[in-house]
Amino acid sequence: MDYLPIFLNLADQPCAVIGGGEVAARKVALLRAAGAKVTVTAPTLCPALAQLAERGEIAHRAEAFSPAALDGAVLVIAATDERAVNAEVSRLARAQRLPVNVVDDPDLCSFIMPAIVDRSPVVIAASTGGASPVLARLLRARLEAAIPAAFGELARLAQRFRARVRERLAAEDRRAFWERVLQGPIAELVFSGRTHDAERALEQALAAAAARQPDPVARGEVYLVGAGPGNPELLTIAALRLMQQADVVLYDNLVSREVLELTRRDAERIYVGKKRADHALRQEQINALMVELAQKGQRVLRLKGGDPYVFGRGGEEIESLAAAGVRFEVVPGVTAASGVAAYAGIPLTHRDYAHSCVFVTGHLKEGVMDLDWHGLARPKQTIVVYMGLLGLEALCRQLIAHGLPEDMPAAVVQQATVPQQRVVTAALRDLAARVAEAGLRPPTLVIVGDVVRLRDKLAWYEAQER
Ligand code: SAH
Repeated sequence: MDYLPIFLNLADQPCAVIGGGEVAARKVALLRAAGAKVTVTAPTLCPALAQLAERGEIAHRAEAFSPAALDGAVLVIAATDERAVNAEVSRLARAQRLPVNVVDDPDLCSFIMPAIVDRSPVVIAASTGGASPVLARLLRARLEAAIPAAFGELARLAQRFRARVRERLAAEDRRAFWERVLQGPIAELVFSGRTHDAERALEQALAAAAARQPDPVARGEVYLVGAGPGNPELLTIAALRLMQQADVVLYDNLVSREVLELTRRDAERIYVGKKRADHALRQEQINALMVELAQKGQRVLRLKGGDPYVFGRGGEEIESLAAAGVRFEVVPGVTAASGVAAYAGIPLTHRDYAHSCVFVTGHLKEGVMDLDWHGLARPKQTIVVYMGLLGLEALCRQLIAHGLPEDMPAAVVQQATVPQQRVVTAALRDLAARVAEAGLRPPTLVIVGDVVRLRDKLAWYEAQER
């Protein structure tokens, strides 16, 4: 270890910053976040610092650096753009045994600034020992993504209960108790923004543990998670966290293998099917299975393509959980329409071409598509049809019969957002024939509307192939 990481308490401590530019401003912001009293020495200040000085939030010595600038300081940062000045600051500070950092000049530093992930009171500092600040920043981005935004909230909750837990539980029981709290359903309540419920659950868990009764907040619960349209990059951070946590995964055929790969290695994976003709399990069986697994204490991940509440029957699944008193959480996903829009270059709305956008299902009920055709065939409206491939011909015919021009541009996109994506565009009257020629297969999304014209300018995903 070239440097020892430590965390300094700078609350109300005088700190000297030499230099008044934007780099200095960033360091000042960090020092102030830690509660330091900052004095900036520089003939002139950048607008951000000038504003702070005006409001009296920092002190300003409007002059060139002189040794007096360090008087009383417990820590020094040099951020001028003149190396000779920075070197002088460094020399004087070290002579007084003051910790000194010179921005971007490790040789002149007695301490270096890490990349910081701030989930106060939880703070993570990452450093490459000055080898590569960019690498440290990349590492920081990964940590930011991996650590839930409400991690600090969880720490504060733990802090509020710490003394009480110590009073009521024996030392040998405390660790297991906290491990249960900090990675189980109580933590999950905090992460999903329900600190109040978490507090109540923690109260109950503590009472039960003190009375040596079984944990009332059993671990069983269900996460109904949108897996997006296929490309794993389009998962939400919440989805990824729950995927890493669940004991059992129920998934259907829309969930891509790449996405499934990101679930916990040792989690049990159950395919519940749901292609048009091949229902591995009927919907009621899926509902019952989720309830059963959760009641056994499992953390169940119900992973659904796209968004669970867009033609995903998520509502029905949740109803049966609620009826059985099983705790659940719902995480939205990128729905196919959004994925298609971005990856095929077809915006869903546009100032000039579409002021509304409707999502409908083209699913056939006893061979017919039962849609509000008049409502669909409106000017300046984008129509997005999920599950529309089988009835495509009828769909186009009906739209034309209800007033859409025969040459209205339309597109069918197969497997949007993944490398196998295919797009067929044509005038509405020719669409079904073109799609049949191309041999497109589900999952496909149909988009009808003037916005399809924009594809020529906006398609970037397949750009290399064209
Ligand atoms: N809940 C999902 C939709 C489920 S219905 C969502 O929000 O996206 C299944 C239909 O979604 C498919 O028949 C197809 O029309 C569409 N779909 C899902 N993923 C798709 C993809 N990657 N490309 C094209 N269409 C897709």
